[in-house]
Amino acid sequence: MADEERTHRGIGVSPGCAYGPVVLVSPPVRAPEGEAAAADPQQALTQVKAAFESVARDLEERAGRVEDTAAEILTATALMARDKGLLKAAGTHLDEGEGPATAIESAVSEFVVQFEALGGYFAERVADLRDVGARAVAAVLGVPAPGVPDLAEPSVVVAQDLAPAETAVLDRTLVLAIVTSGGGRTSHTAILAAQRGIPAVVQCDRALELPVGALVAVDGDLGTVTLEPGEAFVADLAVRNERRTSALDGSFGPGRTSDGHAVALLANIGDVADAEAAAAQDLEGVGLFRTEFLFLSATSAPTLDEQAEVYAQVFAPFGRRRVVVRTLDAGADKPLAFADLGPEENPALGRRGLRLSAERPDLLDVQLQALAIATRETGADVRVMAPMVATAEEADWFARRVREHGLPTAGVMVEVPAAALRSRHVLADMDFASIGTNDLSQYTMAADRMQGALSELLDPWQPAVLDLVAATCAGGAATGTPVGVCGEAAGDPLLALVLVGLGVSSLSMAPSRIPMVRLALSRHSLPECQRIATVALGARTAAAARTRCLEQAVVEITDLL
Ligand code: PEP
Ligand code: MG
Repeated sequence: MADEERTHRGIGVSPGCAYGPVVLVSPPVRAPEGEAAAADPQQALTQVKAAFESVARDLEERAGRVEDTAAEILTATALMARDKGLLKAAGTHLDEGEGPATAIESAVSEFVVQFEALGGYFAERVADLRDVGARAVAAVLGVPAPGVPDLAEPSVVVAQDLAPAETAVLDRTLVLAIVTSGGGRTSHTAILAAQRGIPAVVQCDRALELPVGALVAVDGDLGTVTLEPGEAFVADLAVRNERRTSALDGSFGPGRTSDGHAVALLANIGDVADAEAAAAQDLEGVGLFRTEFLFLSATSAPTLDEQAEVYAQVFAPFGRRRVVVRTLDAGADKPLAFADLGPEENPALGRRGLRLSAERPDLLDVQLQALAIATRETGADVRVMAPMVATAEEADWFARRVREHGLPTAGVMVEVPAAALRSRHVLADMDFASIGTNDLSQYTMAADRMQGALSELLDPWQPAVLDLVAATCAGGAATGTPVGVCGEAAGDPLLALVLVGLGVSSLSMAPSRIPMVRLALSRHSLPECQRIATVALGARTAAAARTRCLEQAVVEITDLL
């Protein structure tokens, strides 16, 4: 069989190539079929409680071994295991005559239905909830927990959808790559893998059919997994890796096109550990600091002092380099317990982002005050932007508040089509704009970004999305407002050329993507980028746009893509 036929295709979410044996993540343990009713439901409830407690302790113990974002995810999952509602639901099932393991499964299933109905962030936590359930079932049955087995050698970890609890503790030295059949571009697996520099492919077709122990070649850039590739394929992969490494070694310094047009290359970060890691790299600062990531597991609003302290820790490593801070983007897929306005039918279209700040100006004011204190303390070049801006009034309201707090540079994210279409008015009084292509794709194509199955519609190469990027750039040019991109699109080297050709002046992405984007820019002049952008806008489909732009890019780069 040709290598091509043995290639499984998915979405590359963390760059790099790897070659190694498959390790399959064990499926969850199930309650025994027809498990006998608990003779003493009260005593069984004590057992179930102990099982949940041991799961919570295990997760907390793992949280203690990892860093910020990973630790927060594990801590939040441990909270689920201690959820009183979950235990109570299990108790009801025990009283109704179910055995302990079955009662846990029934309770978890009920919560899964509720989480799925809530959608957005909750729907994405379903994997965590199921993981908690499976671990509790294993604990109550006294069998080993499901999940990644202990790795004896460097391996490619293959799973249906890796739970954050598993991703967070993966040993970088033993995990060559991650492949999942589920997940999406913005799932926890994707975010954590990119943060750790582990090549990853999600939504990989027939991933679970990969035989344990078989050798596979994973390409996190192309999104392919090739089973037992021939010697020539492996040699080619190694050559490609080497070519890529040596090409990237020769790429350093500020981002610019071959004719010297500057394009700032910036990092997306979410916490202090990200800031420290990014600051140590060859990049020009931060283009998106997602502040809500700091507080995902906080049960009460962080105080002024707490916020000022953590912001100063994030700013300090960057010295004079810019740090673009996004105010809390709470709601929808990222609810914050202390900023909850109650359930909504369609959270992604609800009171999220700046809309939530408008209803809770107290939260925004404390955050802006804390940012001002941290800015003064560190002398950092801090620029503040708002998420989910739709109208000129919202933009003006935000800019006024930012400036009232003594923060001189105010911007908006353009991630709602209305803001893109009316950018000349929305940006009139702003110092900068940053296009969030993840949400812009979601809202332009009316496709939930958490739905892996809609990934074609969510592709930022969609011509309609590119039209809106162009419209935003036109508004930026008309008002003299610099426009950047901080969604996932910025990290695609070919698409980066299109964005620059459309008029984007900064690109912010996972730091691991910067060298490739820098290299692609350095091999094309601004007029070439503009020509490639015209080709992209002229295409009828996302696939045609990509293919035709690839034909226009210089051969040396297309070889590496
Ligand atoms: C975006 O929407 O593109 C973006 C950068 O913000 P987030 O992914 O945090 O919604
Ligand atoms: Mg967004």
